[in-house]
Amino acid sequence: MNNCIFCKIVRDEIPAKKIHEDDDIIAFNDINPAAPVHILLIPKQHIASLSETEELHRDLLGKMLLSIPKLARDQGCTDGYRTIINTGHVGGQEVFHLHIHIIGGKERLPAMIHQS
Ligand code: AMP
Ligand code: ZN
Repeated sequence: MNNCIFCKIVRDEIPAKKIHEDDDIIAFNDINPAAPVHILLIPKQHIASLSETEELHRDLLGKMLLSIPKLARDQGCTDGYRTIINTGHVGGQEVFHLHIHIIGGKERLPAMIHQS
């Protein structure tokens, strides 16, 4: 996808602080971190959102999830972290290339969603 910002990171057309890269996935630091550790984990393949995934993505999705504990641990999240996948308009998704947020630090994170 020519104009997708995360595809540009995959192609090294814009810089990112990459933490992990292999044939299928990349993890890099979020440009606007919400906590001391804020990693984005993406597939190299352009998939717009979790809603666009299908059976053929089973192995890729499994690989992404299974890579998270080591990624988080290597960034110092030894006592837990939060994983978030924002999906679509209601989910607050801003970049339409599937990504998993991995968020953590030393302090317990605040409750995620409040309903007033
Ligand atoms: P979401 O709302 O789930 O789509 O989140 C998109 C995330 O991408 C936000 O946390 C942004 O700070 C992050 N982001 C946007 N552009 C970049 C970039 N060039 N490098 C790293 N992170 C980015
Ligand atoms: Zn993309």
